[in-house]
Amino acid sequence: EVATGSLPGWDRVEELARAAHARYRDLDDGAVADYIPALADADPALFAVCVAETDGSVHAVGDAGVEFSVQSISKAFVYALVCEQLGHEAVRERVGVNNTGLPFNSVVAVELQQGHPMNPMVNAGALATTALVPGATPQERWEHVREGLSRFAGRELVLDEEVHRSESATNARNQAIARLLQSYGRIDHEPAGVVDVYTRQCALRVDARDIAVMGATLADGGVNPVTRERVVSEDVCRDTLAVLASTGMYERSGDWLFEIGLPAKSGVAGGIVAVAPGKGAIGTFSPRLDAAGNSVRGQRATAYLSRTLGLNLFASA
Ligand code: GLU
Repeated sequence: EVATGSLPGWDRVEELARAAHARYRDLDDGAVADYIPALADADPALFAVCVAETDGSVHAVGDAGVEFSVQSISKAFVYALVCEQLGHEAVRERVGVNNTGLPFNSVVAVELQQGHPMNPMVNAGALATTALVPGATPQERWEHVREGLSRFAGRELVLDEEVHRSESATNARNQAIARLLQSYGRIDHEPAGVVDVYTRQCALRVDARDIAVMGATLADGGVNPVTRERVVSEDVCRDTLAVLASTGMYERSGDWLFEIGLPAKSGVAGGIVAVAPGKGAIGTFSPRLDAAGNSVRGQRATAYLSRTLGLNLFASA
């Protein structure tokens, strides 16, 4: 458990979370993702800002109880669970920790590295990571993922059946990437089953409060600050946050780190979680995305909070 208490006090955090929401509520740049048909129906007006502290307090502003599919944010937590089970060196050898500099669903990136997926936050690396989840069948592996992510959230997460169906019907590219990985010996299971577990993990329903608590669990050295349950070890948290810093925000990870200075992960449904080690996490939700796939309002609100709460990891004061 990591020492707490370096955020500026409950009232001030609450006030700044409200200010972050108010400041960017009317910003309407960006577009809702539509390559997964079920996501195109999201209400673009939705906007939530949450801060979960490592002392267990949670600040929730706006549409913080509205659920959305976790999408790529799941990759961070499945990676942590797999590292916990297998040890980070085994996962590093198989999946890697370097940015591809290419879009998250790039096939070229896999080919350029002779089948090495590069990192667990692009789809190739996430598929290779999900293939390492313990379990004899896809069903068992899926249950392991669902239970693990639920422990991070501190409540039972459930599948969004419609998003799962919709993505399953349109994910030819992920199917292709899984086949390609199989051809290079990077996944040991039947590719279709691996893609299905991955597609399910992306379709888990969360709200902004959930992702803030999930992030705060990484900030708290692996102990969920609300339930007090240990989910993963401190070492796994450190390794996961290092990977998020270099790869969590797609090919804009460098810009993000430069501007905001926190490890973070986004998903195409509009969620972003940013983690301040030892202090807490910011969870935002707003469906309009920029060209790289990151929520526009979420990025701005997180930048504001990082600045005003003094969270930038590279700032000396
Ligand atoms: N399930 C989505 C996909 O594989 C996740 C993408 C994302 O959130 O970046 O395309």
